[in-house]
Amino acid sequence: MKAAILAIGTELLIGQTIDTNSAWIGEHVTAIGLTITQTLAIADDKPVMIDAIKSLSKDVDYLFITGGLGPTKDDITKDALAEVLGVEMKFDQSTNDRIVSYFVERNLQISELHKAQCYFPIGIQLLENTMGTAPGMLMQHQNCQIISMPGVPYEMKEIMKGKVLPLIESNHKRQPYYQKTIHTAGIPESSVADLIEATLDNLPESIDIAYLPSLGTVKVRVSAIGQESELQVKNAVDLLVDKLQPYVYGYDGLEIQEAVQQLMIDRGLTLATAESCTGGYISHLITSISGSSGHYNGGIVAYANEVKINQLNVNPNTITQYGAVSEEVVKEMVIGCIDSLRSDIAIAVSGIAGPTGGTELKPVGTIWICVGNKERQFTRKFGLTKNRIINIRYSSRAALILLRKFLLDQ
Ligand code: AMP
Ligand code: MG
Repeated sequence: MKAAILAIGTELLIGQTIDTNSAWIGEHVTAIGLTITQTLAIADDKPVMIDAIKSLSKDVDYLFITGGLGPTKDDITKDALAEVLGVEMKFDQSTNDRIVSYFVERNLQISELHKAQCYFPIGIQLLENTMGTAPGMLMQHQNCQIISMPGVPYEMKEIMKGKVLPLIESNHKRQPYYQKTIHTAGIPESSVADLIEATLDNLPESIDIAYLPSLGTVKVRVSAIGQESELQVKNAVDLLVDKLQPYVYGYDGLEIQEAVQQLMIDRGLTLATAESCTGGYISHLITSISGSSGHYNGGIVAYANEVKINQLNVNPNTITQYGAVSEEVVKEMVIGCIDSLRSDIAIAVSGIAGPTGGTELKPVGTIWICVGNKERQFTRKFGLTKNRIINIRYSSRAALILLRKFLLDQ
């Protein structure tokens, strides 16, 4: 069964609101066996809506629409639908009664504008909205079932969960869908592809593969539809993981910080952090995982040189000779941090997050990371971007990836 999603709202096109509705609908209808073939976001513009509804509904069994059902002038989805269906609009008394009691219960003044929310294209089926004033609508257009819902994400989700998903499930014998996502770190997307290319050629036709790179990690999603999907996906994942070791740190929702926490706890080791340019972000990632107190002692945000010298025992001469952003300084930060916070292992980061502060020799995005114990340290230099937030996030994850490498090398 094929499906498409149409997200209506000019705010989605101008960067004001992120289209989370399409992502949510995509995830949930895929899980019950539909195949999403298109997602489209369009403006609050009636001719564009009519075109989009006509063309999307031609190719799919289900079309999910969100947005444009409110009481204001920009909410014109129902008019567009009536035009596509070739029907008039009709006043619905029960919706009117419900809206009136919704306002009375909340002790709010009702506006005349809500009258517009009580008109619907003739022949549609209403889908109750327990979270707001605008009900959803279900209608048949040629071979397509169209489901139109409000844009407010929690209202849409309620209608989907309460009415739409159960209805679709009862309409069709469900085609099983199974997916597993392999998470790799410390290897670029192209090298991931090189490692598994030959294996992919020998997988069953039904297996679908997607590469999802993000900030130092690459996820490989393996999915299939059909009776054999679970077995096929599990077998394929085993074959692929075999080729991708030692870069695989986990599966599905697992974060790199969870993977390293498990390694640290398994080895009975403690960790501390000394952060300059990341300003505590590594500490935040580590402590966002429940159970982090089992291995994490704490961190020092050593932003000023004085803090590096006084709290981490970095030699002032090292800073003068090599600069605060240098391999020598991050190594001394690791040793000082282990002493100061009495840990087995420490992570240290020093860099130029930007957008200002770069020099010809050390441009913005130059980041040094060190991970190690008293005996042995791994260091890495990165030349990242001009964007401060990306540099902070990327280098924090890179530090955790380096920690994983250090632990596996022990
Ligand atoms: P509407 O139903 O068009 O009146 O939308 C009401 C609210 O829902 C607005 O604040 C929108 O920004 C939000 N909204 C609309 N469409 C989406 C979407 N696709 N994803 C997330 N939020 C949305
Ligand atoms: Mg809108």
